[in-house]
Amino acid sequence: MPASRVLDDLLPRRGGPLPRVAVIGAGVSGLTLARVLAGAGFPVRVLDKGRGPGGRLSTRRDADGGTFDHGAQYFTARDPLFVAQVEAWVAQGLAAPWQGRIGTLEPGAVTPSAKESVRYVGVPGMNSVAKVLADGLDLRSGVRVERVSRDGKAWRLTSDSGEDLGLAEVVVAAVPAPQAVPLLAGAPALADQAKGARLSPCWAVMARFEAPVALALDGAFVKDSPLSWVAREASKPGRASGERWVLHGSPEYSAAHLEETPEEVAPKLLEAFAQALGTGVRAVEAVAHRWRFSMPSPPLDTRALYDAEAGLGACGDWCAGPRVEGAFLSGVALARRVVEGVRGP
Ligand SMILES: Cc1cc2nc3c(=O)[nH]c(=O)nc-3n(C[C@H](O)[C@H](O)[C@H](O)COP(=O)(O)OP(=O)(O)OC[C@H]3O[C@@H](n4cnc5c(N)ncnc54)[C@H](O)[C@@H]3O)c2cc1C
Repeated sequence: MPASRVLDDLLPRRGGPLPRVAVIGAGVSGLTLARVLAGAGFPVRVLDKGRGPGGRLSTRRDADGGTFDHGAQYFTARDPLFVAQVEAWVAQGLAAPWQGRIGTLEPGAVTPSAKESVRYVGVPGMNSVAKVLADGLDLRSGVRVERVSRDGKAWRLTSDSGEDLGLAEVVVAAVPAPQAVPLLAGAPALADQAKGARLSPCWAVMARFEAPVALALDGAFVKDSPLSWVAREASKPGRASGERWVLHGSPEYSAAHLEETPEEVAPKLLEAFAQALGTGVRAVEAVAHRWRFSMPSPPLDTRALYDAEAGLGACGDWCAGPRVEGAFLSGVALARRVVEGVRGP
């Protein structure tokens, strides 16, 4: 099945006048929601402050032409709908199982993991699946929505530069919970629920090394360290060769050092990597990226938030589960609720 058909044909196409939908956020949840609603015939517009679609499903290119997945590292699939979506991505060459050696790294000890569920990655980078989700959608990047205010029966969206972004009867904040709160001001009960969701931060370092790193693992959960995870990029399918690693600071370390500069953090996490390995490492290049909102801890116990009367809603991993799969399922759940809201009970 073509990758997009899983979502495009999920709900029956509807006739008649349908409300305009504005989706704020082109991460997995917002793109999934937008695809399902567009497939059902709704006029949908997606707005994102980033340079392209994907949000935390993000791939960065370095000066040497290689790439780093500095946000989500891989995804797993359990729910039948997400399994079908992942199978479609795999069939199209947009994703593939990651056969890397995964395990645990503690100072002085390396422990390979027992075989677990299959880990998938986007090919050639994690953001490939976001790009295909966005394909054909009305998406505007590089615009931050600051205000959603009532204008007759619709909502008016305004950017942080004061630009009028137009009207929509239904507005969805598909953004991390703290960023959703101000956008949900027109539905105070939803804003209050969003206030209850916390997301931990994560400092990510993208490092290129001269020589192969002496670790018999390609992805490691790191214990007793400022780091929580490290991964060898070239072990993922479709990546350039070369010794590129992504190092993730632990939630505790990242929170404690959140307001430091990337230039301050990068050498500290490189040093933590050397300590965990028990040997020195020489980076040719190391760039740090701050994820203020990385993983929900814990997510709310609801798939999505929606006030059908107001036409305001929210979705994301913080509603449905702290992973790519959770974001996808949250987008689907909200699409269903928007459609039900139009149809009536
Ligand atoms: C470091 C890190 C490691 C991770 N590792 C994994 C992993 O290994 N496996 C896994 O399954 N998941 C992992 N995750 C989590 C996974 O990335 C997320 O669950 C998922 O991508 C969330 O998608 P989303 O649509 O909910 O939100 P996001 O991807 O955050 O999308 C929100 C979008 O909204 C945009 N936005 C925000 N505010 C505004 C505004 N006011 N106006 C316009 N646009 C706005 C942002 O630019 C962004 O594109 C990781 C995340 C991080 C950061």
